[in-house]
Amino acid sequence: MNIGKTLIHWYEQYQRELPWRTTKNPYLIWVSEIIMQQTRIQQGLPYYLKFVTDFPTIEALASAPQDKVLLNWQGLGYYSRARNMHETAQIIVKNHNGIFPSSYHELLKLKGIGPYTAAAIASFCFNERIPAIDGNVNRVISRIYDIELPINKGPGQKMVRDFSIQTLGKNDPCTFNQAMMDFGALICTPTNPLCKNCPISLECKSLKNNTITLRPVKEKQAPPKARYFTYLVVNHKGSTLLMQRQHNDIWKGLYEFPMWEFDSPMVAEEFLQLPKIMKLLKGCRISSISENRLPIHKLSHQNIYSQFIQLTTEPLPKISNTLEVKADELKNYALPKLIINFLHHQKKEFSRI
Ligand code: SF4
Repeated sequence: MNIGKTLIHWYEQYQRELPWRTTKNPYLIWVSEIIMQQTRIQQGLPYYLKFVTDFPTIEALASAPQDKVLLNWQGLGYYSRARNMHETAQIIVKNHNGIFPSSYHELLKLKGIGPYTAAAIASFCFNERIPAIDGNVNRVISRIYDIELPINKGPGQKMVRDFSIQTLGKNDPCTFNQAMMDFGALICTPTNPLCKNCPISLECKSLKNNTITLRPVKEKQAPPKARYFTYLVVNHKGSTLLMQRQHNDIWKGLYEFPMWEFDSPMVAEEFLQLPKIMKLLKGCRISSISENRLPIHKLSHQNIYSQFIQLTTEPLPKISNTLEVKADELKNYALPKLIINFLHHQKKEFSRI
């Protein structure tokens, strides 16, 4: 059996209808691939439609202010993807006349475009014969060929790649790559794959060896780092203070309340007694103090323990690099999901400030 051909045949009958499947425009393919990384289709689709409405061309994206791009992306997470896209769009417009490079190796040189995205653009738009290996493809190939090596380490990655090239064979690379993705999403799913409906079950070594639940093998990653954020949420006559994150860290470019990071959990009383905080609040009359802690905010490699200390003050304290924002203007700023969660949590209180 030609596995690649069989999967393409299956795809021609059962493919998912997705807006970026009807285009060869590398800009639109790029946007869809970046948005859909680490994101379910149902969650990512509205973001894709909003993004290409606000920034229909690479020139529109390149000329937009970064704040507008981040606001469009708000809630999707992994904000470095949006910042990299914005920067890469500017480079393509400036250095390539707005025309996308058309080969895998040229695409790989662009910021934020890794092997998977480069292969997807090169094969979908320019028919380059190269497999696009994402999480779905890793799983499918690991199972078909019953790969025992961890797929997140060099030798295992090479084996998946070699088998993917072999399976692609002389088939059309664009259709093959899309078929692999849909097959992984619809049939060879992470849990309870539909082996009874699988058109290649006779060829599947994991099915034969009864190792499906063991594939793919992944080597354990380091445990997530714990971080402790204490936010100072001040409020005076319906206004609060925000600051933009500047450092090369999570959420760069997004806005949040003034925040201090500690090595361990902080007690509100202790925080307010810190000399640097007392100095900031000097001259402010504080009429109310309250404290909230949100559940752990989990990112891919970090767990954020957050604490929000809310003060009603007269006047607002002077904190450098902050801007005064009315409560009803907060929606105009790109905020991390953690801050949005806090605002939802505090909706009643905030509608009163
Ligand atoms: S038989 Fe099952 S595990 Fe094997 S490729 Fe098909 S769906 Fe995946």
